[in-house]
Amino acid sequence: MSHEDCIFCKIIDGEIPSAKVYEDEDVYAFLDISQVAKGHTLVIPKTHVKNIYETPAEVASKLFERVPKIANAIKDTYKPIGMNLLNNNEKAADQSVFHLHIHILPRYVENDGFS
Ligand code: 5GP
Ligand code: ZN
Repeated sequence: MSHEDCIFCKIIDGEIPSAKVYEDEDVYAFLDISQVAKGHTLVIPKTHVKNIYETPAEVASKLFERVPKIANAIKDTYKPIGMNLLNNNEKAADQSVFHLHIHILPRYVENDGFS
């Protein structure tokens, strides 16, 4: 279900352009507009849920089921030497868009921050 005024719902609906990495009936993945590292990707459920607290198990399960495939696609394309998965919940934890998302953060330098 699309949620009015949600940027990520607008991205799923194509109202806001995005660089698509992966899409199926349940999940959409696209490059973060502000790349912390090359290939920085956001993976989101097509169902609007605010964050992990409000995520039904079925939505979480479909979302995480796709993450290994998407992570491998990013690994094959960008050839990072590692990657972090990150999920921020609520403002205090740096959530700025209130539609659940998993950051995939490729890493290119050993133990050197996000570079
Ligand atoms: P958060 O801080 O909520 O964990 O992450 C939200 C992320 O969404 C940020 O990294 C931000 O750069 C990204 N973002 C915000 N607006 C847009 C947009 O319109 N397009 C894309 N591709 N990414 C966005
Ligand atoms: Zn939404």
